[in-house]
Amino acid sequence: MKAAIIGGGAVGVTSAYDLARQGAEVVLYEKDEIAGGSTGRAAGVLYDAFAAPEDARVGERAIGRFREFSGEGDFEFHETPYVWFAREGDEKRVEAIREQVPRMQESGRDVSFADADELRERFPAVNWRDVAVAAVAENAGHTDPASYADLLAEKAREEGAEIRTDTEARIDADALAVEETDGESESFDAILVAAGAHTKRLLAIAGIPVPLKPYRVQALTAGFGGTTRSEDRADLPMGYDATGGYYFRPHSEGLLAGDGTEEVESDPDDWAREADREFREITRDRLGHRLGEFGATREAWAGLCVATPDRDPLLGELRDGLYVAGGWQGHGFMRAPALGEASADAMLGENPLPEFDPTRFDGDEEFAIVEGMTVE
Ligand SMILES: Cc1cc2nc3c(=O)[nH]c(=O)nc-3n(C[C@H](O)[C@H](O)[C@H](O)COP(=O)(O)OP(=O)(O)OC[C@H]3O[C@@H](n4cnc5c(N)ncnc54)[C@H](O)[C@@H]3O)c2cc1C
Repeated sequence: MKAAIIGGGAVGVTSAYDLARQGAEVVLYEKDEIAGGSTGRAAGVLYDAFAAPEDARVGERAIGRFREFSGEGDFEFHETPYVWFAREGDEKRVEAIREQVPRMQESGRDVSFADADELRERFPAVNWRDVAVAAVAENAGHTDPASYADLLAEKAREEGAEIRTDTEARIDADALAVEETDGESESFDAILVAAGAHTKRLLAIAGIPVPLKPYRVQALTAGFGGTTRSEDRADLPMGYDATGGYYFRPHSEGLLAGDGTEEVESDPDDWAREADREFREITRDRLGHRLGEFGATREAWAGLCVATPDRDPLLGELRDGLYVAGGWQGHGFMRAPALGEASADAMLGENPLPEFDPTRFDGDEEFAIVEGMTVE
C-alpha cells in the first residue's frame, strides 16, 4: 500500500512508523520541521487515567509504548505519579472526582483516592491543605515531546518511510492525491490528515467539513526556589488542580506549569504565540500557593489544542481512502503512541477504535469549546 501522511507531529510520525514497519510505502509531509506544531509546544504530561473503556485502552497502550521506546535516541519516559484534586467548597468537582475514580478502576486503571495526610507524607513539597478530594494515577510520567517525535520520525525512516520536512501539502480528496505547494502532485492508496490545528482547514479546502475547533492554551517553566529541599524536589508529582484549572510537573529547569485555556476558536495561521502577562502572573500566584517559593520564569509560551463537539477524537476513514486523526482536546501527545498506531491500523483495513469514527458528525455542528482536562 502507498500511504501519505500530512503532519509530522507525534501522531503523524507514529503512524508513519507503524505503517512502514508493516510494509507500506509511506511519504510524510510536514510543512515545518518534525514537532513544529503543537507537539513541540506540549507540556509532556502523560497518564492513562481515563474512565471510558476505549479511552482507558488507548491510555494503557500509549503509556506502555512510551515505556518501550524510553532510552532510544534522546527520548526518556520519566516515571512520575499524577495527582488530581478538587478543593474544599468546590462541590461540583469534588463529586466529579469521587464518581470518576471508581469508573477508572473498573476500566483497569491503577488509580486510587488519597487524603491530605497521605499526600503530605508521599509528596512533601506540595501544599495539600485545601484539598477536599484527590486521586493518584500511578501509570504516569513526563517527557520532552519533541524527543518522542524525533525518535519516531527516525524509526519511520529506518523502516523505509520518506519524511519530507519544509513541505506544505494540500489534498485532492477525489483523486486521492497530495499536492505540494510548489505544484508536485502524487497519488496514493490512502491519505491520513494528522495536521493538528490545520486539519479542519486542510479538509475544508478539499471540500470536506469536519467539526474541529483549535483553541489556545499556555504553559511556562520556572526554576525552583532556594528554600525547596532537594529531597522534596525529587518527590514532586505531576498535579492538576481541577478547581483552579491548572497543572504542574517536574522539569529539568525546575517546574513546568500550564493552562490559561481560551474557550474561543483560534485561527491556526494567526494566533499569539507568546504567553499573556496575565497568565504568567496568575500561574506564579498559583504555584507560590501550591509549592512555596520558586525561582524565575524561564520560558512562557502558547500553543493550540483542538476541540470536538463531544470531546472525543475524530479517528478513522472519512471517505474512501481518506483518513483523519485529530481533535484530542489537549490529550493528543499522551495518547499519540496509541492513536498513531490505531490510525495506521485503520489505513491497513482494521477498525480499532469505532467509537471515534469521524463520520458520526456532518461537519457543520455548532458547539462550545470545553477544555479537555476539565473535571465536571
Ligand atoms: C501548551 C500546551 C501544552 C500541552 N500539554 C499536553 C500534555 O501535557 N499532554 C498531552 O497529551 N497533550 C498536550 N498538549 C496537546 C498536544 O500538543 C497535542 O494534542 C498533540 O501534540 C497533537 O499532536 P498531532 O500530531 O495531532 O498534531 P501536531 O503536533 O500539531 O502536528 C501537526 C503537524 O502538521 C503540520 N501541518 C499542518 N498543516 C500542514 C500542511 N498543509 N502540510 C504539511 N504539514 C502540515 C504542522 O506543521 C504540525 O507539525 C498540549 C498543547 C499545548 C499547546
